[in-house]
Amino acid sequence: MTQDDEHWMHEAIAIARSKGSDPSTSPLGCVIVLDGKVIAGERNQTKELPDATAHAEMMAIRRACESTGDLELRGATLYSTLQPCGMCTMASIWSKVGRVVYGAGRDDVHEMYFKAQHVDTLAFTGDACRDDIVIEGGCLRDDCAKLYYGPDAELPVAEQANL
Ligand SMILES: [Zn+2]
Repeated sequence: MTQDDEHWMHEAIAIARSKGSDPSTSPLGCVIVLDGKVIAGERNQTKELPDATAHAEMMAIRRACESTGDLELRGATLYSTLQPCGMCTMASIWSKVGRVVYGAGRDDVHEMYFKAQHVDTLAFTGDACRDDIVIEGGCLRDDCAKLYYGPDAELPVAEQANL
């Protein structure tokens, strides 16, 4: 992790907080950086659209491809405040981003954010169709984890979002 990484992660955190920081709304932010510039920055929008696939990373990949006019994002780095789910990890692979950097990992937050996922995305990218994607976690881990319910939060089931 570099200071640049922390700089871009601060941007992702700001986007995550752009519509409030209530952890029940799953404030996830993502920016995609290419050649030192943000080419996309998106928050998750699953409820607003509504679209079950509108995770922050999916939206940012769509915007980044639109803004570059290219379906491949080679050389770009994707920053996400929370460890990308399986869908977003595969989308990163398909879009050819070179590097994924996330803040909080699955052990840093309440299990509700990952409960439907029995697959550890870090493990499955090892078996996926690309071995040239780098995935690194823990960038501003504590700041990112504060966006979400903590691992030991006692939450009524009804308040646990299904992401
Ligand atoms: Zn996702």
